[in-house]
Amino acid sequence: MVDLKLHNTKTRKKEIFTPIDAENVRMYVCGPTVYDRAHLGNARPVVVFDVLNRVLRHVYGENHVTYVRNFTDVDDKINARAAQSGRLIGDITDETIAWFLDDMGALGAREPDHAPRATAYIGKMIAMMENLIEKGHAYAADGHVLFAVESYENYGALSGRSIDDMIAGARVEIADYKHNPMDFVLWKPSDETQPGWDSPWGYGRPGWHIECSAMSYELLGDSFDIHGGGNDLMFPHHENEIAQSKCAHPHGDFARYWLHNEMLQVEGKKMSKSLGNFFTVRDLLDQGVAGEVIRFVFMQTHYRKPMDWTGQKAKDAEATLRKWRAITDGVAPTNVAAPVLAALADDLNTAGAVAALHQLAAAGEAGVLKASAALMGLLTEELGAWSRDVAIGDEVSTLIEALLTDRANARADKNWARADELRNGFAAAGVLVKDTADGAVWELANGFDLTKLEALK
Ligand code: AMP
Ligand code: ZN
Repeated sequence: MVDLKLHNTKTRKKEIFTPIDAENVRMYVCGPTVYDRAHLGNARPVVVFDVLNRVLRHVYGENHVTYVRNFTDVDDKINARAAQSGRLIGDITDETIAWFLDDMGALGAREPDHAPRATAYIGKMIAMMENLIEKGHAYAADGHVLFAVESYENYGALSGRSIDDMIAGARVEIADYKHNPMDFVLWKPSDETQPGWDSPWGYGRPGWHIECSAMSYELLGDSFDIHGGGNDLMFPHHENEIAQSKCAHPHGDFARYWLHNEMLQVEGKKMSKSLGNFFTVRDLLDQGVAGEVIRFVFMQTHYRKPMDWTGQKAKDAEATLRKWRAITDGVAPTNVAAPVLAALADDLNTAGAVAALHQLAAAGEAGVLKASAALMGLLTEELGAWSRDVAIGDEVSTLIEALLTDRANARADKNWARADELRNGFAAAGVLVKDTADGAVWELANGFDLTKLEALK
């Protein structure tokens, strides 16, 4: 078995990955808050952890990995969206979840084994809060439940921050019901316009962090292998998850390996609405950038480095994928090349793996190229439609244009037999030709038949 090495944020080192149970390797990744289309940055953790999911399954076996990624479907941003649009919260979250799965599927991301919604785990969150209160790690005040940060001595260890840094970084809300300004909200009261549930502390709703602690515990247990997310989540979200989980289940390890991806930028700048360089995955797909092209661009930057999305990279990626698809078309995948696996096993060095794919392509090793690319979710059947469409489209239009020139020449030469043959042939093949003042224009009818068209050559 290959040695898989992963960079663990907890120790700031690349470590050999040893699962708790090789029969069931367990991974939890923080998922999206569902109120809007995913932007391109949101897709980065999805693709990064999709590659890890595929590599784990390659190493430990298809059925020996449990991958959980949640949907945050209770959040004040969702409430604001509902209030502003006059729509029901449930309609917004259902629609956004369907969009998310669709858009991420277009990037070749496999769905996780479990995709729990926070609202389905409110009872489990309440039980966890009761446990924390009982052990003295949380307290109720003014309809709120707060986590007492001072009660957990390792608070801040993951991100390596001092209390002062954390206070500065968290834009801590000072509230008179808090014992310590750093204490964070587990539960807060709801009025009748906000979503809410009955609890021992009154009608209310959870704060954000508790959901991941409750859902990972229910689905993966008190100790699991890998926890992932963007590095913007390291503090406070992941620090808070650790504090809650370790205090509620002190005999567990919670997550053993913490992986964080760096952020995505666009043409060298932070992606933001005010800079006008903000776009969603769907925007790109609608502009004709294939999901596979987006995925391939992502692979060229290591997940722990900031990645820059540029139009040029997308063009280059498309050209490379077209070449590779032409080489591998109709070829059966054989085995994964050792250098590709070695690169991926080395803390997901996808850029190194892509370099190895280039070598396979140059050597004409089509079967190995196909199998190796598939491990990264590339050159797969599901993602190939874009290249087939365009390849066939190009071929057909070139042929039709050539036959139209042929017809024009036949007419000029008064070769009426050939001109008629072409006119009847177009009709039989399902190509509708119209002569206009600007020349002939054509479109394909239903029942278009490429073989009949080719017979006209
Ligand atoms: P949000 O909806 O903002 O909570 O983000 C959902 C996920 O997208 C989190 O895992 C974030 O870390 C990630 N994310 C947000 N912006 C970016 C970005 N520019 N680059 C990479 N990941 C991002
Ligand atoms: Zn989380």
